[in-house]
Amino acid sequence: MNAFERRIRTIIEAEGPLPLSRYMTLCLSDPHHGYYTTRDPLGVSGDFTTAPEISQMFGELIGLWCAEVWRAMSAAGGAARGAPQRLHLAELGPGRGTLMKDLLRAAKIVPDFLSAIDVHLVETSPVLAGRQRETLANAHPEISWHTRVEELPEGPLIVVANEFVDALPIDQFVKTQDGWRERRIGIVDGKLAFGLDPRPVPGIDESLPPRLRKAFVDSVLERRELGPVREIATRIAKAGGAALIVDYGHRRTTLAHTLQAVRAHEFADPLELPGEADLTSLVDFEALADSVKQQGARPWGPISQGVFLRRLGIEPRAERLKRDADAKTRADIDAALHRLVGEAPRQMGELFKAFAFTHPELPAPPGFDS
Ligand code: SAH
Repeated sequence: MNAFERRIRTIIEAEGPLPLSRYMTLCLSDPHHGYYTTRDPLGVSGDFTTAPEISQMFGELIGLWCAEVWRAMSAAGGAARGAPQRLHLAELGPGRGTLMKDLLRAAKIVPDFLSAIDVHLVETSPVLAGRQRETLANAHPEISWHTRVEELPEGPLIVVANEFVDALPIDQFVKTQDGWRERRIGIVDGKLAFGLDPRPVPGIDESLPPRLRKAFVDSVLERRELGPVREIATRIAKAGGAALIVDYGHRRTTLAHTLQAVRAHEFADPLELPGEADLTSLVDFEALADSVKQQGARPWGPISQGVFLRRLGIEPRAERLKRDADAKTRADIDAALHRLVGEAPRQMGELFKAFAFTHPELPAPPGFDS
Protein backbone atom coordinates (compact mmCIF):
# COMPACT_ATOMS: atom_id res chain seq x y z
CA MET A 1 0.00 0.00 0.00
CA ASN A 2 1.38 3.45 -0.85
CA ALA A 3 1.07 6.52 1.42
CA PHE A 4 -1.67 7.97 -0.76
CA GLU A 5 -3.86 4.86 -0.35
CA ARG A 6 -3.60 5.32 3.40
CA ARG A 7 -4.90 8.88 2.98
CA ILE A 8 -7.74 7.75 0.71
CA ARG A 9 -8.76 5.15 3.32
CA THR A 10 -8.91 7.87 5.97
CA ILE A 11 -11.22 9.88 3.72
CA ILE A 12 -13.45 6.82 3.12
CA GLU A 13 -13.58 6.10 6.86
CA ALA A 14 -14.69 9.69 7.48
CA GLU A 15 -17.06 10.23 4.52
CA GLY A 16 -18.19 6.76 3.46
CA PRO A 17 -17.61 5.16 0.02
CA LEU A 18 -16.40 7.68 -2.59
CA PRO A 19 -18.07 8.49 -5.91
CA LEU A 20 -15.72 7.52 -8.74
CA SER A 21 -15.35 11.18 -9.80
CA ARG A 22 -14.04 12.06 -6.34
CA TYR A 23 -11.59 9.14 -6.41
CA MET A 24 -10.38 10.12 -9.91
CA THR A 25 -9.94 13.76 -8.91
CA LEU A 26 -7.86 12.69 -5.91
CA CYS A 27 -5.76 10.25 -7.94
CA LEU A 28 -5.11 12.64 -10.85
CA SER A 29 -4.94 16.06 -9.22
CA ASP A 30 -4.12 15.78 -5.50
CA PRO A 31 -1.47 18.48 -4.89
CA HIS A 32 0.95 16.05 -3.18
CA HIS A 33 0.20 12.61 -4.62
CA GLY A 34 -1.82 13.21 -7.83
CA TYR A 35 -0.70 11.42 -10.96
CA TYR A 36 -0.46 14.54 -13.14
CA THR A 37 0.57 16.87 -10.32
CA THR A 38 3.71 14.93 -9.49
CA ARG A 39 5.14 13.69 -12.79
CA ASP A 40 5.53 14.00 -16.56
CA PRO A 41 3.78 10.79 -17.71
CA LEU A 42 4.32 11.20 -21.46
CA GLY A 43 6.66 9.57 -23.92
CA VAL A 44 8.41 6.26 -24.45
CA SER A 45 9.86 6.15 -20.93
CA GLY A 46 6.58 7.36 -19.39
CA ASP A 47 3.16 5.75 -19.21
CA PHE A 48 1.62 6.71 -22.54
CA THR A 49 2.32 8.54 -25.81
CA THR A 50 0.04 11.06 -27.49
CA ALA A 51 -0.40 12.25 -31.08
CA PRO A 52 1.67 15.46 -30.76
CA GLU A 53 4.51 13.37 -29.25
CA ILE A 54 4.31 10.95 -32.19
CA SER A 55 4.76 13.54 -34.92
CA GLN A 56 5.17 17.26 -35.46
CA MET A 57 2.59 16.96 -38.26
CA PHE A 58 -0.26 16.74 -35.73
CA GLY A 59 0.37 20.15 -34.13
CA GLU A 60 1.27 21.75 -37.46
CA LEU A 61 -2.04 20.80 -39.06
CA ILE A 62 -3.94 22.01 -35.99
CA GLY A 63 -2.05 25.31 -36.26
CA LEU A 64 -3.30 25.76 -39.81
CA TRP A 65 -6.80 24.76 -38.63
CA CYS A 66 -6.71 27.59 -36.05
CA ALA A 67 -5.45 30.16 -38.58
CA GLU A 68 -8.20 29.16 -41.00
CA VAL A 69 -10.90 29.42 -38.31
CA TRP A 70 -9.58 32.87 -37.41
CA ARG A 71 -9.83 33.90 -41.08
CA ALA A 72 -13.43 32.65 -41.18
CA MET A 73 -14.21 34.61 -37.98
CA SER A 74 -12.79 37.78 -39.52
CA ALA A 75 -14.66 37.22 -42.78
CA ALA A 76 -17.95 36.55 -40.98
CA GLY A 77 -17.74 39.97 -39.28
CA GLY A 78 -20.29 41.39 -36.87
CA ALA A 79 -20.05 41.71 -33.11
CA ALA A 80 -21.71 38.35 -32.51
CA ARG A 81 -18.94 36.52 -34.34
CA GLY A 82 -16.07 38.39 -32.86
CA ALA A 83 -14.45 39.94 -35.97
CA PRO A 84 -11.35 39.63 -33.86
CA GLN A 85 -8.52 42.10 -34.02
CA ARG A 86 -7.38 40.33 -30.87
CA LEU A 87 -7.97 36.66 -30.21
CA HIS A 88 -7.20 34.36 -27.29
CA LEU A 89 -5.75 31.02 -28.35
CA ALA A 90 -6.02 28.53 -25.50
CA GLU A 91 -4.94 24.93 -25.06
CA LEU A 92 -6.42 22.74 -22.33
CA GLY A 93 -4.13 20.11 -20.77
CA PRO A 94 -1.09 20.87 -22.96
CA GLY A 95 1.15 18.05 -21.67
CA ARG A 96 4.72 18.88 -22.65
CA GLY A 97 3.70 21.86 -24.80
CA THR A 98 4.64 20.04 -28.00
CA LEU A 99 1.34 20.59 -29.82
CA MET A 100 1.44 24.34 -29.09
CA LYS A 101 5.07 24.61 -30.22
CA ASP A 102 4.32 22.89 -33.56
CA LEU A 103 1.08 24.88 -33.93
CA LEU A 104 2.84 28.24 -33.49
CA ARG A 105 5.68 27.30 -35.84
CA ALA A 106 3.29 26.21 -38.62
CA ALA A 107 1.19 29.36 -38.14
CA LYS A 108 4.19 31.50 -39.16
CA ILE A 109 2.89 31.25 -42.72
CA VAL A 110 -0.12 33.33 -41.55
CA PRO A 111 1.69 36.23 -39.81
CA ASP A 112 -1.50 38.28 -39.25
CA PHE A 113 -2.95 35.40 -37.23
CA LEU A 114 0.19 35.16 -35.11
CA SER A 115 0.16 38.86 -34.37
CA ALA A 116 -3.56 38.77 -33.48
CA ILE A 117 -3.28 36.09 -30.80
CA ASP A 118 -2.22 35.82 -27.23
CA VAL A 119 -1.61 32.28 -26.03
CA HIS A 120 -3.11 30.70 -22.88
CA LEU A 121 -2.31 27.32 -21.43
CA VAL A 122 -4.69 25.76 -18.92
CA GLU A 123 -2.80 23.20 -16.85
CA THR A 124 -3.29 21.85 -13.32
CA SER A 125 0.08 20.14 -13.05
CA PRO A 126 3.03 22.27 -11.89
CA VAL A 127 5.43 19.64 -13.26
CA LEU A 128 3.91 19.77 -16.74
CA ALA A 129 3.56 23.57 -16.66
CA GLY A 130 7.33 23.61 -16.06
CA ARG A 131 7.87 21.36 -19.08
CA GLN A 132 5.64 23.65 -21.16
CA ARG A 133 7.67 26.72 -20.15
CA GLU A 134 10.84 24.99 -21.39
CA THR A 135 9.28 23.82 -24.64
CA LEU A 136 7.70 27.19 -25.38
CA ALA A 137 10.53 29.52 -24.37
CA ASN A 138 10.68 32.07 -27.23
CA ALA A 139 7.79 30.41 -29.11
CA HIS A 140 5.51 33.45 -28.76
CA PRO A 141 5.77 36.87 -27.07
CA GLU A 142 2.55 36.51 -25.05
CA ILE A 143 1.97 33.23 -23.26
CA SER A 144 0.20 32.91 -19.91
CA TRP A 145 -0.63 29.94 -17.70
CA HIS A 146 -3.86 29.24 -15.81
CA THR A 147 -5.06 26.38 -13.66
CA ARG A 148 -8.77 26.71 -14.58
CA VAL A 149 -10.65 27.71 -17.73
CA GLU A 150 -12.59 30.26 -15.65
CA GLU A 151 -9.33 32.27 -15.43
CA LEU A 152 -9.17 32.83 -19.22
CA PRO A 153 -9.72 36.48 -20.19
CA GLU A 154 -13.00 37.38 -21.91
CA GLY A 155 -13.27 37.80 -25.67
CA PRO A 156 -13.14 35.78 -28.88
CA LEU A 157 -11.49 32.44 -28.32
CA ILE A 158 -10.03 29.48 -30.20
CA VAL A 159 -9.44 26.42 -28.02
CA VAL A 160 -7.63 23.16 -28.71
CA ALA A 161 -7.55 20.11 -26.44
CA ASN A 162 -5.94 16.76 -27.24
CA GLU A 163 -6.46 13.90 -24.77
CA PHE A 164 -7.81 16.33 -22.19
CA VAL A 165 -11.48 15.34 -21.91
CA ASP A 166 -10.68 11.65 -21.29
CA ALA A 167 -8.94 12.69 -18.06
CA LEU A 168 -11.94 14.63 -16.71
CA PRO A 169 -13.51 12.58 -13.90
CA ILE A 170 -16.54 10.35 -14.46
CA ASP A 171 -19.18 8.75 -12.27
CA GLN A 172 -20.49 5.26 -13.01
CA PHE A 173 -24.00 3.90 -12.54
CA VAL A 174 -25.13 0.27 -12.77
CA LYS A 175 -28.63 -0.84 -13.78
CA THR A 176 -30.17 -3.14 -11.15
CA GLN A 177 -33.59 -4.74 -10.65
CA ASP A 178 -34.63 -1.66 -8.67
CA GLY A 179 -33.18 1.02 -10.98
CA TRP A 180 -29.80 2.71 -11.52
CA ARG A 181 -27.37 2.72 -8.60
CA GLU A 182 -24.03 4.49 -8.26
CA ARG A 183 -20.74 2.63 -8.18
CA ARG A 184 -18.58 3.83 -5.29
CA ILE A 185 -15.20 3.01 -3.85
CA GLY A 186 -15.12 1.66 -0.30
CA ILE A 187 -13.07 -0.75 1.78
CA VAL A 188 -13.95 -4.46 1.67
CA ASP A 189 -11.90 -7.10 3.49
CA GLY A 190 -9.19 -4.52 4.16
CA LYS A 191 -8.84 -3.52 0.48
CA LEU A 192 -10.12 -0.70 -1.72
CA ALA A 193 -13.05 -2.15 -3.66
CA PHE A 194 -15.93 -1.09 -5.89
CA GLY A 195 -19.45 -1.46 -4.49
CA LEU A 196 -22.96 -0.23 -5.25
CA ASP A 197 -24.58 2.55 -3.29
CA PRO A 198 -27.79 1.11 -1.80
CA ARG A 199 -30.00 4.03 -2.88
CA PRO A 200 -31.35 3.99 -6.47
CA VAL A 201 -30.63 7.22 -8.41
CA PRO A 202 -33.87 8.62 -9.86
CA GLY A 203 -34.26 10.23 -13.31
CA ILE A 204 -31.44 8.47 -15.15
CA ASP A 205 -33.59 6.51 -17.65
CA GLU A 206 -35.49 9.67 -18.61
CA SER A 207 -32.21 11.52 -19.24
CA LEU A 208 -30.90 8.86 -21.66
CA PRO A 209 -31.44 8.78 -25.43
CA PRO A 210 -34.69 6.75 -26.00
CA ARG A 211 -32.77 3.81 -27.55
CA LEU A 212 -31.04 3.21 -24.17
CA ARG A 213 -34.00 3.50 -21.81
CA LYS A 214 -34.63 -0.25 -21.53
CA ALA A 215 -31.10 -1.21 -20.54
CA PHE A 216 -30.35 -4.74 -19.34
CA VAL A 217 -29.56 -5.35 -15.68
CA ASP A 218 -25.81 -4.88 -15.05
CA SER A 219 -25.45 -2.27 -17.83
CA VAL A 220 -22.95 0.45 -16.86
CA LEU A 221 -23.48 4.13 -17.61
CA GLU A 222 -20.62 6.63 -17.34
CA ARG A 223 -21.25 10.34 -16.81
CA ARG A 224 -18.44 12.85 -17.11
CA GLU A 225 -18.04 16.17 -15.34
CA LEU A 226 -17.88 18.44 -18.39
CA GLY A 227 -17.60 21.75 -16.48
CA PRO A 228 -14.49 23.05 -18.34
CA VAL A 229 -15.97 22.21 -21.77
CA ARG A 230 -19.31 23.82 -20.88
CA GLU A 231 -17.51 26.99 -19.75
CA ILE A 232 -15.64 27.19 -23.08
CA ALA A 233 -18.88 26.61 -25.04
CA THR A 234 -20.65 29.38 -23.11
CA ARG A 235 -17.82 31.82 -23.86
CA ILE A 236 -17.66 30.89 -27.55
CA ALA A 237 -21.44 31.24 -27.93
CA LYS A 238 -21.21 34.70 -26.37
CA ALA A 239 -17.99 36.21 -27.71
CA GLY A 240 -17.24 34.17 -30.88
CA GLY A 241 -14.73 31.49 -31.74
CA ALA A 242 -14.31 27.76 -32.00
CA ALA A 243 -12.93 24.74 -30.15
CA LEU A 244 -11.32 21.54 -31.40
CA ILE A 245 -11.36 18.46 -29.19
CA VAL A 246 -9.45 15.32 -30.18
CA ASP A 247 -9.79 12.27 -27.99
CA TYR A 248 -10.60 8.57 -27.96
CA GLY A 249 -14.19 7.61 -27.53
CA HIS A 250 -17.59 6.63 -28.88
CA ARG A 251 -19.62 8.60 -31.41
CA ARG A 252 -22.81 7.83 -29.46
CA THR A 253 -23.59 7.17 -25.80
CA THR A 254 -22.79 3.52 -25.11
CA LEU A 255 -23.61 1.57 -21.98
CA ALA A 256 -20.18 0.19 -21.19
CA HIS A 257 -17.52 0.24 -18.52
CA THR A 258 -14.55 2.05 -20.08
CA LEU A 259 -12.62 3.28 -17.04
CA GLN A 260 -8.99 2.29 -17.46
CA ALA A 261 -5.74 2.65 -15.58
CA VAL A 262 -2.46 2.71 -17.52
CA ARG A 263 1.02 2.48 -16.03
CA ALA A 264 4.21 2.05 -18.10
CA HIS A 265 2.19 1.48 -21.32
CA GLU A 266 0.26 -1.45 -19.67
CA PHE A 267 -3.26 -1.68 -18.29
CA ALA A 268 -3.36 -1.72 -14.49
CA ASP A 269 -5.95 -2.11 -11.71
CA PRO A 270 -7.48 1.38 -11.10
CA LEU A 271 -7.64 0.74 -7.34
CA GLU A 272 -4.04 -0.44 -7.02
CA LEU A 273 -1.27 2.10 -6.26
CA PRO A 274 -3.58 5.15 -6.49
CA GLY A 275 -1.84 8.22 -7.94
CA GLU A 276 0.68 6.09 -9.81
CA ALA A 277 -1.38 5.25 -12.91
CA ASP A 278 -3.20 7.38 -15.47
CA LEU A 279 -6.98 7.00 -15.02
CA THR A 280 -9.12 7.76 -18.07
CA SER A 281 -12.25 6.61 -19.82
CA LEU A 282 -13.62 6.78 -23.34
CA VAL A 283 -15.24 10.09 -24.27
CA ASP A 284 -18.97 10.01 -25.00
CA PHE A 285 -19.14 12.44 -27.96
CA GLU A 286 -22.95 12.38 -28.04
CA ALA A 287 -23.06 13.69 -24.46
CA LEU A 288 -20.35 16.22 -25.32
CA ALA A 289 -22.34 17.52 -28.33
CA ASP A 290 -25.54 17.79 -26.23
CA SER A 291 -23.73 19.69 -23.58
CA VAL A 292 -22.17 22.32 -25.88
CA LYS A 293 -25.52 22.73 -27.69
CA GLN A 294 -27.17 23.51 -24.36
CA GLN A 295 -24.68 26.38 -23.92
CA GLY A 296 -25.61 27.84 -27.32
CA ALA A 297 -22.59 26.63 -29.34
CA ARG A 298 -22.84 24.59 -32.56
CA PRO A 299 -21.29 21.10 -32.57
CA TRP A 300 -19.50 19.60 -35.61
CA GLY A 301 -18.63 15.90 -35.96
CA PRO A 302 -17.25 13.81 -34.43
CA ILE A 303 -15.30 12.38 -37.34
CA SER A 304 -12.47 9.90 -37.04
CA GLN A 305 -8.98 11.31 -36.44
CA GLY A 306 -7.81 9.54 -39.61
CA VAL A 307 -10.42 11.27 -41.80
CA PHE A 308 -9.81 14.61 -40.07
CA LEU A 309 -6.03 14.57 -40.55
CA ARG A 310 -6.33 13.38 -44.16
CA ARG A 311 -8.76 16.19 -44.95
CA LEU A 312 -6.30 18.68 -43.43
CA GLY A 313 -3.60 17.32 -45.75
CA ILE A 314 -1.42 15.09 -43.58
CA GLU A 315 -0.37 12.96 -46.56
CA PRO A 316 1.14 15.77 -48.66
CA ARG A 317 2.71 17.17 -45.47
CA ALA A 318 4.40 13.81 -44.83
CA GLU A 319 5.65 13.72 -48.44
CA ARG A 320 7.04 17.24 -48.06
CA LEU A 321 8.90 16.30 -44.85
CA LYS A 322 10.28 13.14 -46.45
CA ARG A 323 11.71 15.04 -49.40
CA ASP A 324 14.68 16.42 -47.44
CA ALA A 325 15.09 13.45 -45.07
CA ASP A 326 17.47 10.48 -44.85
CA ALA A 327 16.19 6.89 -45.14
CA LYS A 328 15.73 6.37 -41.38
CA THR A 329 13.78 9.64 -40.97
CA ARG A 330 11.63 8.78 -44.00
CA ALA A 331 10.73 5.44 -42.41
CA ASP A 332 9.95 7.21 -39.09
CA ILE A 333 7.64 9.68 -40.87
CA ASP A 334 5.79 6.81 -42.58
CA ALA A 335 5.42 4.95 -39.27
CA ALA A 336 4.09 8.08 -37.53
CA LEU A 337 1.64 8.76 -40.36
CA HIS A 338 0.43 5.19 -40.15
CA ARG A 339 -0.05 5.34 -36.40
CA LEU A 340 -1.98 8.65 -36.56
CA VAL A 341 -4.37 7.77 -39.41
CA GLY A 342 -4.38 3.94 -39.50
CA GLU A 343 -7.64 2.20 -38.62
CA ALA A 344 -6.39 -0.96 -36.89
CA PRO A 345 -7.20 -1.26 -33.16
CA ARG A 346 -3.69 -0.34 -32.01
CA GLN A 347 -3.56 2.67 -34.32
CA MET A 348 -5.22 5.99 -33.62
CA GLY A 349 -7.08 6.83 -36.85
CA GLU A 350 -10.42 5.24 -35.95
CA LEU A 351 -10.30 4.99 -32.14
CA PHE A 352 -9.64 8.73 -31.84
CA LYS A 353 -12.22 11.26 -32.98
CA ALA A 354 -12.10 14.95 -33.84
CA PHE A 355 -15.00 17.06 -32.63
CA ALA A 356 -15.45 20.82 -32.93
CA PHE A 357 -17.86 23.46 -31.75
CA THR A 358 -18.22 27.03 -32.92
CA HIS A 359 -20.23 30.18 -32.50
CA PRO A 360 -23.55 29.27 -34.19
CA GLU A 361 -23.02 31.72 -37.06
CA LEU A 362 -19.61 30.47 -38.15
CA PRO A 363 -19.28 28.14 -41.16
CA ALA A 364 -18.05 24.56 -40.83
CA PRO A 365 -14.46 24.54 -39.63
CA PRO A 366 -11.76 22.89 -41.81
CA GLY A 367 -12.14 19.11 -41.92
CA PHE A 368 -15.82 19.21 -40.88
CA ASP A 369 -17.14 20.74 -44.11
CA SER A 370 -18.04 17.68 -46.16
N1 SAH B 1 -2.48 17.32 -24.60
C1 SAH B 1 -1.25 16.67 -24.22
C2 SAH B 1 -1.30 15.96 -22.87
C3 SAH B 1 -2.42 14.98 -22.63
S1 SAH B 1 -2.37 14.31 -20.98
C4 SAH B 1 -0.83 15.73 -25.32
O1 SAH B 1 -1.63 15.47 -26.20
O2 SAH B 1 0.33 15.26 -25.28
C5 SAH B 1 -3.59 15.26 -20.13
C6 SAH B 1 -3.19 16.67 -19.82
O3 SAH B 1 -4.28 17.34 -19.18
C7 SAH B 1 -2.01 16.83 -18.88
O4 SAH B 1 -1.28 17.97 -19.26
C8 SAH B 1 -2.71 17.04 -17.53
O5 SAH B 1 -1.89 17.61 -16.57
C9 SAH B 1 -3.85 17.93 -17.94
N2 SAH B 1 -5.04 17.96 -17.09
C10 SAH B 1 -5.72 16.91 -16.58
N3 SAH B 1 -6.82 17.33 -15.91
C11 SAH B 1 -6.84 18.68 -16.03
C12 SAH B 1 -7.72 19.72 -15.57
N4 SAH B 1 -8.82 19.45 -14.88
N5 SAH B 1 -7.43 21.00 -15.88
C13 SAH B 1 -6.33 21.31 -16.62
N6 SAH B 1 -5.45 20.37 -17.07
C14 SAH B 1 -5.70 19.09 -16.78
